[in-house]
Amino acid sequence: MIRLTGIGASEGISLGKALIYIEDKIDLESMKKSSLSAEAELVKLNDGVTKTKSQLLAIRERVREKLGEDKAAIFDAHIELLEDEDLQDGIKERVTKEGMSAAYAINEGVEETCNILSQLDDAYLRERVSDLRDIAKRWIKNTLGIKIKDLSILEPDTIVVTDDLTPSDTAQLDLEHCVAFITEFGGKTAHSAIMARSLEIPAIVGVKNIIQTVKDGEYLVLDGEKGIIYLSPTEEVIEAYKQKKVNFLKEKEELKKLKDLPATTACGERTVNVWGNIGKPEDVDAVIAAGGEGVGLYRTEFLFMNSDHMPTEEEQYEAYKIVAQKLKGKPVTIRTMDIGGDKELPYLDLPKEMNPFLGYRAIRISLTHKDMFKTQLRAILRASAYGKIKIMYPMVCSINEIRKSNEILKEYMEELDKEGKVYDTNIQVGIMVETPSTAMIAYKFAKEVDFFSIGTNDLTQYFLAVDRGNEKVSGLYSAFNPAVLEAIQRVIDAGHDRGISVSMCGEFAGNKKATEILLGMGLDSFSMSASSILGVKKKIRDTKYEDAKKYRDVILSMNTPEEVIDSLR
Ligand code: PEP
Ligand code: MG
Repeated sequence: MIRLTGIGASEGISLGKALIYIEDKIDLESMKKSSLSAEAELVKLNDGVTKTKSQLLAIRERVREKLGEDKAAIFDAHIELLEDEDLQDGIKERVTKEGMSAAYAINEGVEETCNILSQLDDAYLRERVSDLRDIAKRWIKNTLGIKIKDLSILEPDTIVVTDDLTPSDTAQLDLEHCVAFITEFGGKTAHSAIMARSLEIPAIVGVKNIIQTVKDGEYLVLDGEKGIIYLSPTEEVIEAYKQKKVNFLKEKEELKKLKDLPATTACGERTVNVWGNIGKPEDVDAVIAAGGEGVGLYRTEFLFMNSDHMPTEEEQYEAYKIVAQKLKGKPVTIRTMDIGGDKELPYLDLPKEMNPFLGYRAIRISLTHKDMFKTQLRAILRASAYGKIKIMYPMVCSINEIRKSNEILKEYMEELDKEGKVYDTNIQVGIMVETPSTAMIAYKFAKEVDFFSIGTNDLTQYFLAVDRGNEKVSGLYSAFNPAVLEAIQRVIDAGHDRGISVSMCGEFAGNKKATEILLGMGLDSFSMSASSILGVKKKIRDTKYEDAKKYRDVILSMNTPEEVIDSLR
């Protein structure tokens, strides 16, 4: 039995078998000329097509069962792309006339087609480029006899072990059978970890050498809160963890009793809002089930990322409307898309950057892709007729960004007026406070907006110059750092001085160890993954406001993160 530790990213106990999931790097260059006969390569090529087609059909069936015929039909288009006669002929010719290996020829043929497609006027065909590249990857692996691991079809009780999980990997996880995931890289606030919390899948990130240490199929038990993993555990450990799992689930059940009670402090002096963070309309159900009083952050970029094309106004409108309707008048803060950083969009040709978190991201993209921004703002405005929607701009660094965005918003309000479309003419507009520039002069920003929402995930990384997704510096990444705490207090005070409400939607808002401090600081609303709502509500209800303020003063007088963390009660 081996015991490993990492960063606990999503709580819960899991027992299951490891599935090692890593992208195999294939050195295609070395396969340019084949040492086999053209006939032998053609056999491999055709075998590859047959295998790829049968895998795509299996995925199609699975998607049909889970998501319906509509979504499944996408895979018919993929199969058509695979079997396209011109593409096939071009690849075969490369094998027979130029002596290329089947794998190399597939790559060449597909890239040639992609180049043609990407220059066409037809947006639908242009967007097929990423599908075709995806199919080519699978086809090449099948041709070379490399086993393909597919996260959307897993064996029961699978623990996915991987180097890093992108948000799109997380999105296609087979939720019925994946009981946990472990990554070698990444930090607690990387988006894969955030998604794990919202999906309520236990997860541990930043586990050094996990891939070399664990064997495929090996039995594991883990504690997602403490970040502990046992490889091939003894019977005793298995039994102990089975019991812990029972206790964990019992406590969760117990918390449900608080569902309909207000988040009022023990002395009755203050009532705050406890809201949920969501990535897609279906996530609202878990927020409501946990007694969430609204949605403080709707990360709309996941709607963009889970689509193979830029979502149309109608598609976005439908999604936002569903959320507003499900919440029946409770507030929902829709954040305009926050692509960039660790969130990629295959159909939007974003440049590779040295420092993506400091680069072309969020509002910076929206302000330079006006068509995309327009589609989203119109969709949000139209959906605002169905509930209490607020608009929030991400990654704001300067007041000009707010003014420019609001000008554009006003333009579309006027457009909707002319079209006679209904929307909330008093819609509130706020910003994420997640950059030092905004935090430092928050009192100036407060004059420009209706509300602030503090994004501690980014605020922490930018204030401390510590990459939120890099496990090598994860020891330095902490919102309990006195500099970050003082920034939070500063933003809350600045908002209150100007009479606007201040919420927090970064992961810190869902950290029970921070609840008392944040209450003492005067935070109005706490927004978090649905799975954290009840625990934080309990903490608020158990705390006296006077005590929280005194505790806040003690904490803010401290000089080092270690002092703060050591004194957390
Ligand atoms: C944040 O930065 O705290 C935040 C909520 O936004 P995201 O995690 O999506 O960057
Ligand atoms: Mg952020």
